[in-house]
Order: sequence, then C-alpha cells, then structure tokens
Amino acid sequence: MIPSAVPSVLKDSVREVIPTAKILVVGAGGIGCEVLKNLALSGFADIEIIDLDTIDVSNLNRQFLFRKEHVGKSKANVAKESILSYNPDISIKAYHDSITSQEYGVNFFKRFNVVLNALDNRAARNHVNRMCLAADIPLIESGTAGYSGQVQFIKKGVTQCYECQPKPPQKSFPGCTIRNTPSEPVHCIVWAKHLFNQLFGEDDPDQDVSPDTADPEAAGDLTAMGNLLRTSTRQWAQQVDYNHVKLFNKFFHDDIDYLLLMENLWKTRKPPEPISWEMASACGTEKRKVLTDDVSSEMDVWPIYLCAEVFSTTIATLKKELSNKEFLIWDKDDKVGLNFVTACANIRAHIFSIAKKSRWDIKSIAGNIIPAIATTNAMIAGLVVLIAFRVLAGDYEECQSIYLRQKSVHSNIILAPDFFTEKANPNCYVCAEQPYVSAYVNVEDMTVKEFENEVLKKTLNMIAPDVILDGKGVFVISSEEGETEANNDKKLSQLGIVDGSILKADDFLQNYNLTIGINNYIAEKDKPLFKIDAKSEELKPSQQNGKENGSVDENASEENVMEVDDKTEAEHLEEYFDDNDPQEGTSTKKRKLNPPDDEDEDLIMLDDP
Ligand SMILES: [Zn+2]
Repeated sequence: MIPSAVPSVLKDSVREVIPTAKILVVGAGGIGCEVLKNLALSGFADIEIIDLDTIDVSNLNRQFLFRKEHVGKSKANVAKESILSYNPDISIKAYHDSITSQEYGVNFFKRFNVVLNALDNRAARNHVNRMCLAADIPLIESGTAGYSGQVQFIKKGVTQCYECQPKPPQKSFPGCTIRNTPSEPVHCIVWAKHLFNQLFGEDDPDQDVSPDTADPEAAGDLTAMGNLLRTSTRQWAQQVDYNHVKLFNKFFHDDIDYLLLMENLWKTRKPPEPISWEMASACGTEKRKVLTDDVSSEMDVWPIYLCAEVFSTTIATLKKELSNKEFLIWDKDDKVGLNFVTACANIRAHIFSIAKKSRWDIKSIAGNIIPAIATTNAMIAGLVVLIAFRVLAGDYEECQSIYLRQKSVHSNIILAPDFFTEKANPNCYVCAEQPYVSAYVNVEDMTVKEFENEVLKKTLNMIAPDVILDGKGVFVISSEEGETEANNDKKLSQLGIVDGSILKADDFLQNYNLTIGINNYIAEKDKPLFKIDAKSEELKPSQQNGKENGSVDENASEENVMEVDDKTEAEHLEEYFDDNDPQEGTSTKKRKLNPPDDEDEDLIMLDDP
C-alpha cells in the first residue's frame, strides 16, 4: 500500500520507491526547512537531517519550521520536531553537527538513495560533492540569492560535479563574519548599512550589529557571560538622545572590547583594536581636511578624524529627519546616508586593520547588497523535490539544471531549464579519472604550514590531507597530529619541493587523491601569493564540440548558496529563442538577456545559514 501522501500524479515506479527511500538533507536553513516540509508532505518517510547551526531570531522570517521559542536551539533538532508535528509517522533523524566531521565518512553517505544539499557556504558544498562522488550517490545541489536561484543534479559519471567549473571568489558572508570577524572592506560596509537601519531604518533582526555570541567558532568563550543585554539598538539610541559620543563609544569601543573576550576568534586572526571618540577625533596631526562636495571627498580615503566628524554630523541630521517619520530608508544616492555608511565602514575597517575605501567605492558596493528571500527559497526547494522524484525513477537525463531568474528574459519565463545535463569537465581536479592541478607557489618563501592551510585546505578544500613528495618518498604533511610537525615552519624548498616537483596529496576522509605539479612563482605586488590551475600540461584538454568546459564565467555571481551561471543560461536561452529576427543582432539579444545594469553584477549576498 502506497501512503496517500505520495503524489498520485507520479509514475507507479516512483510512488513505490518514495516511502522507503533514504534521504539525507544537508542544512536546515532557508532552503532546508522548505525541502524538509516538501519531503514530509510528499510521502518520504526516512529522512536524516544534519546542520551545525542554532536558530537565530533573524531566521524566523523565512525558516518556517522555527518559532520564537526555538531561538538558540539546534536547527536540525527543532526541524525534526516540527516535521514530526506535521507527520508523526515518518522516521527522521537529526544531527546537530558539521557534515565535514570525520564521523560522516563515505560509508555514512552510502546509506542514502539521494543527498539533498541546502547549504550556505562553498566549503561544505565542495565537501559533500566529493563525498557523494566517492560514495557514488546522487546529489541535488541548490542555492538562492535574492530573487535568483538554481538547482543542479550531480551524479558521478553522468553529470558535471560541483567543482567541474571554476568559481569566482565567494561574495557571500555569514552573519557572524559581519558581526564578529570582518576581514574585507565589504564586510564593514554591510555592517555599516545594518547600523544605519538599526539606528534609523525599519526594524530588521537580520541586521543586528552587536557581537554575535552564537558564533560556533567562539563556542565556549562566553558560556558564563550569557548573552548581551537585549535592548534594541534603536531604543538605546533614543534613550541617549542619539548622543554621538555615546553611540561612537558603544559601537567602536565597547562592542569591540566585548568581541575581544571571545578569545577563540583571535587565535588565528589579528585582534581588533577598539577606538574611542576621543582617540578618533585626536587621530592624525596633518592639516585637517573637511568634507566638501568636490572630487577629493569622493575619491580619497577619509582619515579617521574626518570619519568621526562625519559620524557626528550625519547622526545629528538623520536624527532630525527621523523626528517626523517612522523610519528612514537608506539610499545610496542620499548623501547623508552614504556619508554615514562611509564613515562607519571605514572606522570599523580601521579597527580590524582592513583597507579603508573611498566614498565612491563604498557607494558602488553598498548599492548591491541583497537579502535572502523566503519565496525564492520555497520555489527552489519545490524544484529540488521534483528533481528528487526523477532521480529516484532513474531518469537522469531529465535532471537538467534549472535556473530561477529575477526577471523573465523572454516569453515570461523565470524558471529556465538547461537543455541537457552538462557532461563532466575532463580536467576537473575533483571528478577526473586522475585529478591533477598545477600550483604556482613561491617555493623559497611559502612554508609547509601555509601550503597546507592556504593551498590544500582553503583553496583545494581538503579537510585532512596527507602529502608526500613523489619519487623522493618524503613525507611532507600528515593528517595524524604531531607526525610532521617539524616540517610546519620549513620553506617548501627546504624539503626538496622545487619547480617541477610532483606532490601526491590524499584526503582519506574525502576518499580523494590529487596530484599537484609545483611551479615556482613569484607574485607581483598586490597580486595573490599563489595560483592554482586545474589545466595540466600533461593532460591535454579533450576536444569538445563547441563549448569549452571549465571556462570561468566572469558574469557568474556568487549566491547566498551557490552560483547562478548567467552566461550559460543566457546562451541556452538565446539558442532556444533564436527567432532569426533580422532586427535583433546577437549582441542586442545578448544584451536583452543579460541586462547591462543588472544587479547580478557584483552582487553581495548575505548568507542564509
Ligand atoms: Zn568535476
């Protein structure tokens, strides 16, 4: 007997599989909650869910399995309880844990019929991709960014893997990066915009600017301290009558002092340096600049005393504006709001030793920040489960990637499928028969530890690599603690790793072997210290008809969860809608498909954990 929840429109062969199919959902955030609800309501009865995070107030506007009373609790556990309240008959197992932990090895993955990714960061995505390839289990990858989204099916030997296409640098940030550990100017700009909204804008708990005590990285540091006093920033600012000195000292001194108490955060980072109003206004002895309307105020980086002064004057103006309105709306074209964000972003950058930016730069970055949207998540999660039906039926050819677009490009289509499942990139350094990369590093300057952390872990996304120098039998890096500690501070060349050396890297957990060709490389000033190139000299790219696999799509934008490959989609659509209209040359059509002023360029996404 097939349970009545199983949709009757599906083929019998699929309907029979659904009640017993074993499903792993990785992530119980924006997309994960929706996916779980869809699974439970379509008759799936054997689900496991894993998520490391706890529930934050800011999740409640779109992660509908969670309620106010759940704040601070495990997402995976609460999601399980909520799902059981819909349907007590399903077997659902929750893990409040990281999917990258050693406990979830290849055998763990092998137990499932299909894995559904609902993640918010690339490192975890890459890892699950590798685990599913190693276990040969189908994976459905999904992501959203604002009004855009994408679903991609991944199966070893059938489709591309998640890492077949090189990805542009990640442009999305979890909340704790913004609130606790900024490392780039954009993190400070996002924070400053949030501060504007907290002080003058519409109330949005998503945009908290105070230290985030739930940061998993800071775990344990503040257990005895409890959470920060929960008065809203706005209420407090009103109580002190928007006194610029008090505001300044809270945001740039006291809150930073508080962050410093989370010692775990600063073990591998430079700790921030709090700055008080008195210190900031006394900064610098040169001839004092004042804010003007000319180019220099636009293009120059303001000194800290000027930031402090602008902070004070803009607060007074914004307070006055607020007096006859309920709230203000930040607009990049409003000078006062932009000056406020420029000043605050730069003061915060100064505190965290991050490069400061001109008002011009900040305007362009701040104008492009978009939030996570519940309806987008719901649409993408619906598609994930529809594709899961096809995967369970074995209809892999029907599992093309689907893109959700903010604007319909043609004929009112906002959900555009690919025309075929993309074949794997033969040079992919993850799913190729013999994965190979060329690494361009300065062998005289880079230490073994730097190579392990920056190249193997952060860039090539290994978790616990073992590395030997090929042909020499030198054990360079061991995943066993202490075994190769003596090598850590040695330069690569001191271990005999020179131009032309071959390293064999092996990650036991990921069941992943990679050959790394070393090229000595001295980076130019202000350029990245090393490069990785997936195309090897030895493995010639195979001749594909027409489209080159593995090309970097410059236009692809980072999503809160993954890329939407605009160009590929646009090309497909162009092909699809090619009506040979002589009025419309290719370039015109391209422009139509990729609107020039589209917000997809340089989007900055807030992660949706
Ligand atoms: Zn691949």
